[in-house]
Amino acid sequence: MDFLGQESFDTQIIFGVAVALLAIGAAVVYLKTTKKSKGCLDPENFKEFKLVKRTQLSHNVAKFTFELPTSTSVLGLPIGQHISCRGKDGQGEEVIKPYTPTTLDSDVGIFELVIKMYPQGRMSHHFREMSVGDYLAVKGPKGRFRYQPGQVRAFGMLAGGSGITPMFQVARAILESPNDKTKLHLIYANVTYEDILLKEELEGLATTYPDQFKVYYVLNQPPEVWDGGVGFVSKEMIQNHLPAPGPGVQILRCGPPPMNKAMAAHLEALGYSPDMLFQF
Ligand SMILES: Cc1cc2nc3c(=O)[nH]c(=O)nc-3n(C[C@H](O)[C@H](O)[C@H](O)COP(=O)(O)OP(=O)(O)OC[C@H]3O[C@@H](n4cnc5c(N)ncnc54)[C@H](O)[C@@H]3O)c2cc1C
Repeated sequence: MDFLGQESFDTQIIFGVAVALLAIGAAVVYLKTTKKSKGCLDPENFKEFKLVKRTQLSHNVAKFTFELPTSTSVLGLPIGQHISCRGKDGQGEEVIKPYTPTTLDSDVGIFELVIKMYPQGRMSHHFREMSVGDYLAVKGPKGRFRYQPGQVRAFGMLAGGSGITPMFQVARAILESPNDKTKLHLIYANVTYEDILLKEELEGLATTYPDQFKVYYVLNQPPEVWDGGVGFVSKEMIQNHLPAPGPGVQILRCGPPPMNKAMAAHLEALGYSPDMLFQF
């Protein structure tokens, strides 16, 4: 009896130790994930982030790299959302505009913005004047769109100029997630070939995920040799390159206001219902 009693006592100790170890493990994982997912943004107050690198990509486009508080910090921006950036225009007046980082929370320690600077643009002026060491005031997350894996079967995307950045963020998140099989069909419109933003990155995604991600470029002024679309994005281009209206399909659009308006009319005429459409 004694022997059996000792064995049962030992089993209880082993069981107790195992439960304690499991609880400690779970607590460590919980603390790590909650710390990681907390992020550096405040939806109510602007926070300052230091510009640590500025890379000119073309005559009017630059990539701005901002430092987060520590080398393991994440920005904490949900997929499909953007940030508000505050600056001063040429007259010294305050200006606030939305921007979507091209980095995800898998990129730790920094976040990056690819900015197209327009000659007369108010916030463009602020970014043009920014030098390494300067701070940018940022508030967020912002936006009505929030991506959940499996929310649709296929996204159609209509982007114009710098309107590519929200699409790029959603596309990267989906394609880099091995379990997310959502299909992506992007039509990307620009004036000239040189205006195409994130071209290498988009080509990289299209090459790596040929069955999941398709891009069709449209240019107003194409080069001599060009196999993409020419002119403005037409109804026919949408019919040929985006998923047809139906269950599990959503069309996202982001571009200059005249393009957004023209695309809304094309999509309605093609039979997409309002619940299938989203404008960033
Ligand atoms: C969700 C969202 C995310 C965005 N993300 C980015 C981003 O990552 N990078 C980025 O560069 N921009 C992005 N934008 C656009 C950005 O918010 C500003 O609209 C843009 O930087 C111009 O602001 P501005 O104050 O310099 O120009 P404004 O003072 O508003 O405009 C002045 C003039 O600039 C020209 N202009 C302005 N916008 C456009 C345009 N879209 N197309 C053609 N001409 C234009 C026009 O001539 C206009 O009259 C995003 C917009 C949205 C809605």
